[in-house]
Amino acid sequence: MKAHDGMYLDGAWRPAAGADTIEVVNPADEQVIGRVPAGDASDIDAAVRAARAALPGWAATPPAERAARLAALRDALAAREDEIAETVTAELGSPLPFSRSVHAALPIAVAGSYAELAATHAFEERTGNSTVLLEPVGVVGAITPWNYPLHQIVAKVAPALAAGCTVVLKPAEDTPLVAQLFAETVHEAGVPAGVFNLVTGRGPVAGQALVEHPGVDLVSFTGSTAVGRRIGALAGAAVKRVALELGGKSANVILPGADLARAVNVGVANVMSNSGQTCSAWTRMLVHRDEYEQAVTLAATAAAKYGDRIGPVVNATQRARVRGYIDKGVAEGARLVAGGTESPHPRGYFVSPTVLADVTPDMTVAQEEIFGPVLTMLRYEDEEDALRIANGTVYGLSGAVWAADDAAAAAFARRMETGQVDINGGRFNPLAPFGGHKQSGVGRELGTHGLAEFLQTKSLQF
Ligand code: NAD
Repeated sequence: MKAHDGMYLDGAWRPAAGADTIEVVNPADEQVIGRVPAGDASDIDAAVRAARAALPGWAATPPAERAARLAALRDALAAREDEIAETVTAELGSPLPFSRSVHAALPIAVAGSYAELAATHAFEERTGNSTVLLEPVGVVGAITPWNYPLHQIVAKVAPALAAGCTVVLKPAEDTPLVAQLFAETVHEAGVPAGVFNLVTGRGPVAGQALVEHPGVDLVSFTGSTAVGRRIGALAGAAVKRVALELGGKSANVILPGADLARAVNVGVANVMSNSGQTCSAWTRMLVHRDEYEQAVTLAATAAAKYGDRIGPVVNATQRARVRGYIDKGVAEGARLVAGGTESPHPRGYFVSPTVLADVTPDMTVAQEEIFGPVLTMLRYEDEEDALRIANGTVYGLSGAVWAADDAAAAAFARRMETGQVDINGGRFNPLAPFGGHKQSGVGRELGTHGLAEFLQTKSLQF
Protein backbone atom coordinates (compact mmCIF):
# COMPACT_ATOMS: atom_id res chain seq x y z
CA MET A 1 0.00 0.00 0.00
CA LYS A 2 1.21 3.47 -0.87
CA ALA A 3 1.95 5.61 2.20
CA HIS A 4 3.28 9.18 2.34
CA ASP A 5 6.04 9.77 4.88
CA GLY A 6 4.98 13.40 5.45
CA MET A 7 1.99 15.56 6.27
CA TYR A 8 -0.23 17.34 3.73
CA LEU A 9 0.30 20.95 4.83
CA ASP A 10 -0.40 24.16 2.96
CA GLY A 11 -0.95 22.41 -0.36
CA ALA A 12 2.07 20.04 -0.37
CA TRP A 13 3.47 16.94 1.32
CA ARG A 14 6.03 18.13 3.88
CA PRO A 15 8.28 16.27 6.34
CA ALA A 16 6.93 15.65 9.84
CA ALA A 17 8.54 17.52 12.73
CA GLY A 18 9.52 14.35 14.64
CA ALA A 19 10.64 10.83 13.76
CA ASP A 20 7.80 8.85 15.41
CA THR A 21 5.76 6.63 13.08
CA ILE A 22 2.58 4.52 13.19
CA GLU A 23 2.48 1.03 11.68
CA VAL A 24 -0.58 0.22 9.61
CA VAL A 25 -1.68 -3.40 9.96
CA ASN A 26 -4.09 -5.44 7.83
CA PRO A 27 -6.56 -6.87 10.40
CA ALA A 28 -7.37 -9.84 8.15
CA ASP A 29 -3.84 -11.30 8.23
CA GLU A 30 -1.95 -9.14 10.76
CA GLN A 31 0.64 -8.07 8.15
CA VAL A 32 2.19 -4.60 8.31
CA ILE A 33 1.13 -2.81 5.12
CA GLY A 34 2.51 0.66 5.65
CA ARG A 35 3.87 3.27 7.98
CA VAL A 36 2.85 6.90 8.40
CA PRO A 37 4.33 9.71 10.49
CA ALA A 38 2.94 10.25 13.99
CA GLY A 39 2.60 14.01 14.21
CA ASP A 40 3.08 16.06 17.35
CA ALA A 41 2.09 19.52 18.59
CA SER A 42 4.48 21.29 16.21
CA ASP A 43 2.95 19.53 13.16
CA ILE A 44 -0.49 20.55 14.41
CA ASP A 45 0.72 24.12 14.92
CA ALA A 46 2.07 24.30 11.35
CA ALA A 47 -1.22 22.92 10.01
CA VAL A 48 -3.38 25.34 12.02
CA ARG A 49 -1.22 28.28 10.87
CA ALA A 50 -1.69 27.20 7.25
CA ALA A 51 -5.46 26.87 7.79
CA ARG A 52 -5.66 30.32 9.45
CA ALA A 53 -3.68 31.93 6.65
CA ALA A 54 -5.99 30.39 4.04
CA LEU A 55 -9.20 31.27 5.89
CA PRO A 56 -9.87 34.86 4.68
CA GLY A 57 -9.43 33.90 1.03
CA TRP A 58 -11.57 30.76 1.21
CA ALA A 59 -14.29 32.43 3.32
CA ALA A 60 -14.52 35.20 0.70
CA THR A 61 -14.61 32.75 -2.22
CA PRO A 62 -18.11 32.85 -3.75
CA PRO A 63 -20.21 29.79 -2.78
CA ALA A 64 -20.51 28.84 -6.46
CA GLU A 65 -16.71 28.49 -6.69
CA ARG A 66 -16.58 26.51 -3.44
CA ALA A 67 -19.30 24.29 -4.93
CA ALA A 68 -17.19 23.81 -8.07
CA ARG A 69 -14.21 22.61 -5.97
CA LEU A 70 -16.50 20.20 -4.10
CA ALA A 71 -17.87 18.86 -7.38
CA ALA A 72 -14.26 18.36 -8.52
CA LEU A 73 -13.56 16.58 -5.21
CA ARG A 74 -16.52 14.26 -5.76
CA ASP A 75 -15.22 13.50 -9.27
CA ALA A 76 -11.67 12.91 -7.98
CA LEU A 77 -13.02 10.48 -5.38
CA ALA A 78 -15.20 8.74 -7.97
CA ALA A 79 -12.24 8.37 -10.33
CA ARG A 80 -10.36 6.51 -7.56
CA GLU A 81 -13.28 4.47 -6.23
CA ASP A 82 -11.47 1.13 -6.67
CA GLU A 83 -8.33 2.40 -4.96
CA ILE A 84 -10.40 3.73 -2.05
CA ALA A 85 -12.14 0.37 -1.65
CA GLU A 86 -8.85 -1.55 -1.79
CA THR A 87 -7.21 0.79 0.73
CA VAL A 88 -10.08 0.50 3.23
CA THR A 89 -10.11 -3.28 2.81
CA ALA A 90 -6.36 -3.40 3.46
CA GLU A 91 -6.35 -1.25 6.62
CA LEU A 92 -9.82 -1.96 8.08
CA GLY A 93 -10.26 -5.54 6.88
CA SER A 94 -13.78 -5.11 5.51
CA PRO A 95 -14.69 -7.38 2.58
CA LEU A 96 -14.04 -5.72 -0.79
CA PRO A 97 -17.70 -5.67 -1.97
CA PHE A 98 -18.68 -3.83 1.24
CA SER A 99 -15.74 -1.45 0.86
CA ARG A 100 -16.94 -0.63 -2.64
CA SER A 101 -20.65 -0.29 -1.93
CA VAL A 102 -20.33 1.55 1.38
CA HIS A 103 -16.83 2.79 2.30
CA ALA A 104 -16.23 4.22 -1.21
CA ALA A 105 -19.75 4.93 -2.48
CA LEU A 106 -21.08 6.74 0.60
CA PRO A 107 -18.44 9.48 0.78
CA ILE A 108 -18.74 10.09 -2.96
CA ALA A 109 -22.50 10.62 -2.49
CA VAL A 110 -21.91 12.91 0.51
CA ALA A 111 -19.29 15.00 -1.33
CA GLY A 112 -21.79 15.31 -4.20
CA SER A 113 -24.58 16.39 -1.86
CA TYR A 114 -22.40 19.22 -0.49
CA ALA A 115 -21.35 20.32 -3.98
CA GLU A 116 -25.07 20.87 -4.61
CA LEU A 117 -25.82 22.43 -1.22
CA ALA A 118 -22.90 24.87 -1.47
CA ALA A 119 -24.33 26.07 -4.78
CA THR A 120 -27.91 26.45 -3.59
CA HIS A 121 -27.78 27.23 0.14
CA ALA A 122 -28.90 30.72 1.22
CA PHE A 123 -25.94 32.17 3.10
CA GLU A 124 -28.01 35.29 3.78
CA GLU A 125 -31.53 35.50 5.21
CA ARG A 126 -33.97 38.35 5.83
CA THR A 127 -36.07 38.56 8.98
CA GLY A 128 -38.13 41.71 9.56
CA ASN A 129 -35.77 44.69 9.30
CA SER A 130 -32.63 42.52 9.58
CA THR A 131 -30.28 40.72 7.26
CA VAL A 132 -28.81 37.59 8.82
CA LEU A 133 -25.43 36.55 7.44
CA LEU A 134 -24.40 32.90 7.76
CA GLU A 135 -20.62 33.09 7.97
CA PRO A 136 -18.02 30.32 8.28
CA VAL A 137 -17.08 29.51 11.89
CA GLY A 138 -13.37 29.64 10.99
CA VAL A 139 -10.68 26.97 11.34
CA VAL A 140 -12.08 23.49 11.99
CA GLY A 141 -10.19 20.76 13.85
CA ALA A 142 -11.64 17.46 12.59
CA ILE A 143 -10.91 14.23 14.48
CA THR A 144 -12.22 10.98 13.00
CA PRO A 145 -12.43 7.26 13.93
CA TRP A 146 -11.51 4.18 11.89
CA ASN A 147 -14.83 2.41 11.42
CA TYR A 148 -16.10 4.31 8.34
CA PRO A 149 -12.78 6.00 7.75
CA LEU A 150 -13.46 7.96 4.56
CA HIS A 151 -17.15 8.61 5.16
CA GLN A 152 -16.43 10.24 8.50
CA ILE A 153 -13.74 12.44 6.97
CA VAL A 154 -15.98 13.57 4.10
CA ALA A 155 -18.98 14.10 6.42
CA LYS A 156 -16.89 16.78 8.17
CA VAL A 157 -14.59 18.19 5.49
CA ALA A 158 -17.19 18.60 2.71
CA PRO A 159 -19.68 20.71 4.74
CA ALA A 160 -16.82 22.66 6.35
CA LEU A 161 -15.46 23.59 2.91
CA ALA A 162 -18.97 24.32 1.63
CA ALA A 163 -19.44 26.73 4.55
CA GLY A 164 -16.15 28.54 3.81
CA CYS A 165 -14.20 27.08 6.74
CA THR A 166 -10.64 25.74 6.50
CA VAL A 167 -9.72 22.40 8.06
CA VAL A 168 -7.03 20.46 9.89
CA LEU A 169 -7.81 16.74 9.92
CA LYS A 170 -6.40 14.23 12.44
CA PRO A 171 -7.63 10.79 11.29
CA ALA A 172 -7.65 7.56 13.33
CA GLU A 173 -4.38 5.72 13.95
CA ASP A 174 -5.68 2.45 12.44
CA THR A 175 -6.78 3.91 9.09
CA PRO A 176 -4.46 6.73 8.01
CA LEU A 177 -3.88 5.50 4.44
CA VAL A 178 -7.34 6.35 3.13
CA ALA A 179 -6.95 9.76 4.82
CA GLN A 180 -3.75 10.32 2.82
CA LEU A 181 -5.56 9.21 -0.33
CA PHE A 182 -8.29 11.74 0.50
CA ALA A 183 -5.68 14.52 0.79
CA GLU A 184 -4.48 13.60 -2.71
CA THR A 185 -8.02 13.96 -4.08
CA VAL A 186 -8.42 17.36 -2.38
CA HIS A 187 -5.22 18.42 -4.14
CA GLU A 188 -6.43 17.04 -7.47
CA ALA A 189 -9.70 18.94 -7.03
CA GLY A 190 -7.82 22.24 -7.03
CA VAL A 191 -8.73 23.24 -3.47
CA PRO A 192 -6.38 26.15 -2.65
CA ALA A 193 -3.31 25.53 -0.46
CA GLY A 194 -4.00 25.63 3.29
CA VAL A 195 -7.76 25.14 2.99
CA PHE A 196 -7.37 21.45 3.90
CA ASN A 197 -4.46 20.06 5.92
CA LEU A 198 -3.76 16.55 7.17
CA VAL A 199 -1.77 15.55 10.26
CA THR A 200 -1.60 11.82 10.97
CA GLY A 201 -0.86 10.93 14.57
CA ARG A 202 -1.98 9.57 17.89
CA GLY A 203 -5.10 10.81 19.68
CA PRO A 204 -3.57 11.86 23.00
CA VAL A 205 -0.70 13.69 21.20
CA ALA A 206 -1.76 15.17 17.84
CA GLY A 207 -5.51 14.94 18.58
CA GLN A 208 -5.26 16.67 21.92
CA ALA A 209 -2.92 19.36 20.51
CA LEU A 210 -5.51 20.10 17.83
CA VAL A 211 -8.33 20.41 20.37
CA GLU A 212 -6.26 22.73 22.57
CA HIS A 213 -4.81 24.91 19.80
CA PRO A 214 -6.06 28.50 20.22
CA GLY A 215 -6.17 28.90 16.42
CA VAL A 216 -8.95 26.30 16.12
CA ASP A 217 -12.48 27.74 16.27
CA LEU A 218 -14.51 24.54 16.14
CA VAL A 219 -13.71 20.94 16.99
CA SER A 220 -15.71 18.33 15.11
CA PHE A 221 -15.14 14.92 16.65
CA THR A 222 -16.46 11.44 15.89
CA GLY A 223 -15.43 8.63 18.19
CA SER A 224 -16.00 7.13 21.60
CA THR A 225 -18.12 8.78 24.27
CA ALA A 226 -15.18 8.68 26.71
CA VAL A 227 -12.90 10.72 24.43
CA GLY A 228 -15.81 12.92 23.31
CA ARG A 229 -16.56 13.88 26.89
CA ARG A 230 -12.94 14.92 27.39
CA ILE A 231 -12.87 16.93 24.16
CA GLY A 232 -16.18 18.60 25.05
CA ALA A 233 -14.74 19.67 28.41
CA LEU A 234 -11.59 21.12 26.82
CA ALA A 235 -13.59 22.94 24.15
CA GLY A 236 -16.04 24.23 26.75
CA ALA A 237 -13.21 25.62 28.88
CA ALA A 238 -11.86 27.46 25.82
CA VAL A 239 -15.38 28.59 24.74
CA LYS A 240 -14.87 26.86 21.41
CA ARG A 241 -17.65 25.43 19.26
CA VAL A 242 -17.80 21.64 19.37
CA ALA A 243 -19.68 18.88 17.52
CA LEU A 244 -19.57 15.36 18.96
CA GLU A 245 -20.71 12.19 17.17
CA LEU A 246 -20.38 9.46 19.77
CA GLY A 247 -21.45 5.92 20.58
CA GLY A 248 -24.79 4.17 20.37
CA LYS A 249 -26.83 1.19 21.60
CA SER A 250 -29.70 1.44 19.17
CA ALA A 251 -32.95 -0.49 19.43
CA ASN A 252 -34.56 -2.46 16.62
CA VAL A 253 -38.18 -2.68 17.74
CA ILE A 254 -40.28 -5.36 16.04
CA LEU A 255 -43.95 -4.71 16.79
CA PRO A 256 -46.64 -7.42 16.44
CA GLY A 257 -47.99 -7.44 12.89
CA ALA A 258 -44.59 -6.73 11.29
CA ASP A 259 -43.05 -9.13 8.78
CA LEU A 260 -41.03 -10.96 11.43
CA ALA A 261 -38.64 -12.85 9.12
CA ARG A 262 -37.75 -9.72 7.17
CA ALA A 263 -37.35 -7.60 10.30
CA VAL A 264 -35.06 -10.19 11.92
CA ASN A 265 -32.99 -10.83 8.79
CA VAL A 266 -32.47 -7.15 8.02
CA GLY A 267 -31.75 -6.55 11.70
CA VAL A 268 -29.06 -9.24 11.80
CA ALA A 269 -27.52 -7.93 8.56
CA ASN A 270 -27.47 -4.42 10.04
CA VAL A 271 -25.55 -5.55 13.13
CA MET A 272 -23.10 -7.85 11.31
CA SER A 273 -22.16 -5.44 8.51
CA ASN A 274 -18.73 -3.86 8.99
CA SER A 275 -18.24 -6.56 11.66
CA GLY A 276 -20.55 -4.71 14.01
CA GLN A 277 -18.29 -1.66 14.05
CA THR A 278 -21.07 0.79 13.28
CA CYS A 279 -22.03 3.46 15.81
CA SER A 280 -25.64 3.42 14.57
CA ALA A 281 -25.99 -0.41 14.51
CA TRP A 282 -29.30 -1.79 15.86
CA THR A 283 -27.54 -3.87 18.51
CA ARG A 284 -30.63 -4.50 20.65
CA MET A 285 -33.44 -6.41 18.96
CA LEU A 286 -36.73 -6.06 20.86
CA VAL A 287 -39.34 -8.75 20.13
CA HIS A 288 -42.80 -9.34 21.64
CA ARG A 289 -42.77 -12.35 23.98
CA ASP A 290 -45.23 -14.32 21.78
CA GLU A 291 -42.85 -14.15 18.80
CA TYR A 292 -39.60 -14.18 20.74
CA GLU A 293 -38.48 -17.82 20.34
CA GLN A 294 -39.29 -17.78 16.64
CA ALA A 295 -37.22 -14.61 16.25
CA VAL A 296 -34.29 -16.15 18.15
CA THR A 297 -34.27 -19.17 15.82
CA LEU A 298 -34.40 -16.90 12.75
CA ALA A 299 -31.60 -14.67 14.08
CA ALA A 300 -29.32 -17.57 15.03
CA THR A 301 -29.78 -19.12 11.58
CA ALA A 302 -29.15 -15.81 9.83
CA ALA A 303 -26.03 -15.05 11.89
CA ALA A 304 -24.54 -18.51 11.34
CA LYS A 305 -24.86 -18.03 7.57
CA TYR A 306 -22.50 -15.05 7.62
CA GLY A 307 -19.52 -17.01 8.91
CA ASP A 308 -16.31 -15.00 8.51
CA ARG A 309 -17.63 -13.23 5.39
CA ILE A 310 -18.20 -10.20 7.60
CA GLY A 311 -14.43 -9.69 7.93
CA PRO A 312 -12.34 -9.19 11.07
CA VAL A 313 -12.61 -6.42 13.66
CA VAL A 314 -10.02 -3.67 13.41
CA ASN A 315 -7.32 -4.77 15.87
CA ALA A 316 -6.40 -7.15 18.68
CA THR A 317 -7.58 -4.75 21.39
CA GLN A 318 -11.04 -4.53 19.85
CA ARG A 319 -11.20 -8.33 19.46
CA ALA A 320 -10.33 -8.80 23.14
CA ARG A 321 -12.91 -6.19 24.12
CA VAL A 322 -15.68 -7.80 22.04
CA ARG A 323 -14.89 -11.28 23.36
CA GLY A 324 -14.90 -9.88 26.89
CA TYR A 325 -18.45 -8.62 26.36
CA ILE A 326 -19.61 -11.98 24.99
CA ASP A 327 -18.20 -13.73 28.09
CA LYS A 328 -19.78 -11.13 30.36
CA GLY A 329 -23.16 -11.53 28.67
CA VAL A 330 -23.11 -15.27 29.24
CA ALA A 331 -21.90 -14.80 32.83
CA GLU A 332 -24.81 -12.43 33.49
CA GLY A 333 -27.33 -15.01 32.20
CA ALA A 334 -27.63 -14.48 28.45
CA ARG A 335 -28.07 -17.54 26.19
CA LEU A 336 -25.47 -17.87 23.41
CA VAL A 337 -27.36 -19.06 20.32
CA ALA A 338 -24.80 -18.24 17.59
CA GLY A 339 -21.08 -17.47 17.44
CA GLY A 340 -19.06 -17.05 20.61
CA THR A 341 -15.45 -16.41 21.50
CA GLU A 342 -13.81 -19.28 19.58
CA SER A 343 -11.65 -17.94 16.76
CA PRO A 344 -12.59 -19.20 13.30
CA HIS A 345 -9.06 -18.36 12.01
CA PRO A 346 -5.49 -18.81 13.22
CA ARG A 347 -4.59 -15.33 11.93
CA GLY A 348 -6.55 -12.10 11.73
CA TYR A 349 -8.77 -10.41 14.30
CA PHE A 350 -11.93 -12.38 13.54
CA VAL A 351 -14.97 -12.65 15.79
CA SER A 352 -17.81 -14.96 14.73
CA PRO A 353 -21.24 -13.37 14.20
CA THR A 354 -22.74 -13.76 17.65
CA VAL A 355 -26.30 -13.69 18.96
CA LEU A 356 -27.12 -13.44 22.67
CA ALA A 357 -30.73 -14.30 23.61
CA ASP A 358 -32.56 -13.91 26.94
CA VAL A 359 -30.86 -10.55 27.40
CA THR A 360 -32.55 -8.32 29.97
CA PRO A 361 -32.34 -4.50 29.97
CA ASP A 362 -30.14 -4.33 33.06
CA MET A 363 -27.35 -6.55 31.64
CA THR A 364 -24.04 -4.96 30.68
CA VAL A 365 -24.43 -6.19 27.08
CA ALA A 366 -27.78 -4.38 26.86
CA GLN A 367 -26.35 -1.09 28.12
CA GLU A 368 -22.79 -0.72 26.83
CA GLU A 369 -21.60 -0.37 23.26
CA ILE A 370 -19.78 -3.57 22.22
CA PHE A 371 -18.66 -2.43 18.75
CA GLY A 372 -18.38 -5.92 17.33
CA PRO A 373 -20.63 -8.45 15.55
CA VAL A 374 -22.82 -9.15 18.58
CA LEU A 375 -26.62 -8.92 18.53
CA THR A 376 -28.53 -8.87 21.81
CA MET A 377 -32.19 -9.99 21.83
CA LEU A 378 -34.64 -8.72 24.43
CA ARG A 379 -38.28 -9.69 25.15
CA TYR A 380 -41.03 -7.16 25.79
CA GLU A 381 -44.57 -7.53 27.14
CA ASP A 382 -46.42 -4.70 25.37
CA GLU A 383 -45.71 -1.46 23.46
CA GLU A 384 -45.14 0.62 26.60
CA ASP A 385 -42.64 -1.95 27.83
CA ALA A 386 -40.91 -1.90 24.42
CA LEU A 387 -40.67 1.89 24.55
CA ARG A 388 -39.26 1.84 28.08
CA ILE A 389 -36.59 -0.67 27.04
CA ALA A 390 -35.81 1.16 23.77
CA ASN A 391 -35.32 4.46 25.64
CA GLY A 392 -33.60 2.84 28.62
CA THR A 393 -29.93 3.51 27.83
CA VAL A 394 -27.73 6.60 28.05
CA TYR A 395 -27.45 6.55 24.23
CA GLY A 396 -29.81 7.73 21.49
CA LEU A 397 -28.17 7.62 18.09
CA SER A 398 -30.30 5.52 15.79
CA GLY A 399 -32.91 2.76 15.71
CA ALA A 400 -35.51 0.91 13.71
CA VAL A 401 -39.20 0.15 14.05
CA TRP A 402 -41.09 -2.55 12.16
CA ALA A 403 -44.89 -2.70 12.21
CA ALA A 404 -47.83 -3.74 10.06
CA ASP A 405 -47.70 -0.37 8.31
CA ASP A 406 -45.44 2.69 8.15
CA ALA A 407 -47.87 4.91 10.08
CA ALA A 408 -47.88 2.58 13.10
CA ALA A 409 -44.07 2.27 13.01
CA ALA A 410 -43.65 6.06 12.68
CA ALA A 411 -46.04 6.68 15.60
CA PHE A 412 -43.80 4.53 17.81
CA ALA A 413 -40.63 6.15 16.39
CA ARG A 414 -41.87 9.62 17.38
CA ARG A 415 -41.73 8.52 21.01
CA MET A 416 -38.16 7.20 20.81
CA GLU A 417 -35.32 9.25 22.35
CA THR A 418 -32.97 8.95 19.42
CA GLY A 419 -31.61 10.91 16.47
CA GLN A 420 -32.60 8.74 13.52
CA VAL A 421 -35.08 5.87 13.05
CA ASP A 422 -35.55 3.59 10.03
CA ILE A 423 -39.23 2.85 9.39
CA ASN A 424 -39.91 -0.71 8.16
CA GLY A 425 -36.37 -0.96 6.79
CA GLY A 426 -35.87 2.62 5.61
CA ARG A 427 -33.30 3.70 3.04
CA PHE A 428 -30.11 5.74 3.48
CA ASN A 429 -30.57 9.41 2.61
CA PRO A 430 -27.36 11.48 2.44
CA LEU A 431 -29.41 14.64 3.11
CA ALA A 432 -31.08 13.42 6.32
CA PRO A 433 -29.47 14.80 9.50
CA PHE A 434 -27.54 12.22 11.51
CA GLY A 435 -26.51 12.61 15.15
CA GLY A 436 -27.26 11.74 18.71
CA HIS A 437 -29.73 12.45 21.46
CA LYS A 438 -28.54 12.06 25.06
CA GLN A 439 -24.93 10.82 25.39
CA SER A 440 -24.69 9.90 21.70
CA GLY A 441 -23.55 13.40 20.93
CA VAL A 442 -24.02 17.06 20.21
CA GLY A 443 -24.72 18.45 16.74
CA ARG A 444 -25.65 16.89 13.42
CA GLU A 445 -23.91 15.71 10.28
CA LEU A 446 -25.16 15.48 6.66
CA GLY A 447 -27.53 17.71 4.72
CA THR A 448 -28.30 21.31 5.62
CA HIS A 449 -28.17 20.52 9.36
CA GLY A 450 -24.60 19.28 8.87
CA LEU A 451 -23.73 22.46 6.99
CA ALA A 452 -25.20 24.61 9.78
CA GLU A 453 -22.64 23.17 12.23
CA PHE A 454 -19.92 25.08 10.35
CA LEU A 455 -21.77 28.40 10.12
CA GLN A 456 -22.19 31.23 12.60
CA THR A 457 -24.74 34.00 12.31
CA LYS A 458 -24.34 37.77 12.23
CA SER A 459 -27.38 40.03 12.03
CA LEU A 460 -27.47 43.49 10.51
CA GLN A 461 -30.38 45.67 11.66
CA PHE A 462 -31.66 48.27 9.18
P1 NAD B 1 -11.74 6.92 19.85
O1 NAD B 1 -12.55 7.90 20.62
O2 NAD B 1 -10.75 6.11 20.57
O3 NAD B 1 -10.91 7.68 18.69
C1 NAD B 1 -11.51 8.54 17.77
C2 NAD B 1 -10.51 9.58 17.33
O4 NAD B 1 -10.14 10.38 18.44
C3 NAD B 1 -9.21 9.00 16.78
O5 NAD B 1 -8.75 9.80 15.71
C4 NAD B 1 -8.27 9.13 17.97
O6 NAD B 1 -6.91 9.22 17.60
C5 NAD B 1 -8.75 10.42 18.58
N1 NAD B 1 -8.41 10.59 20.01
C6 NAD B 1 -8.23 9.62 20.95
N2 NAD B 1 -7.91 10.18 22.14
C7 NAD B 1 -7.90 11.53 21.95
C8 NAD B 1 -7.64 12.65 22.81
N3 NAD B 1 -7.33 12.49 24.08
N4 NAD B 1 -7.73 13.88 22.28
C9 NAD B 1 -8.05 14.07 20.98
N5 NAD B 1 -8.29 13.06 20.12
C10 NAD B 1 -8.22 11.79 20.59
O7 NAD B 1 -12.79 6.06 19.07
P2 NAD B 1 -12.52 4.85 18.06
O8 NAD B 1 -12.24 3.65 18.86
O9 NAD B 1 -11.57 5.25 17.00
O10 NAD B 1 -13.94 4.74 17.36
C11 NAD B 1 -14.98 3.98 17.84
C12 NAD B 1 -16.01 4.83 18.53
O11 NAD B 1 -16.50 5.84 17.64
C13 NAD B 1 -17.23 4.06 18.95
O12 NAD B 1 -17.60 4.38 20.26
C14 NAD B 1 -18.32 4.53 17.99
O13 NAD B 1 -19.61 4.42 18.45
C15 NAD B 1 -17.92 5.91 17.72
N6 NAD B 1 -18.46 6.37 16.46
C16 NAD B 1 -19.48 7.28 16.46
C17 NAD B 1 -20.04 7.70 15.27
C18 NAD B 1 -21.15 8.69 15.22
O14 NAD B 1 -21.39 9.26 14.15
N7 NAD B 1 -21.87 8.94 16.29
C19 NAD B 1 -19.56 7.20 14.07
C20 NAD B 1 -18.54 6.27 14.12
C21 NAD B 1 -17.99 5.87 15.32
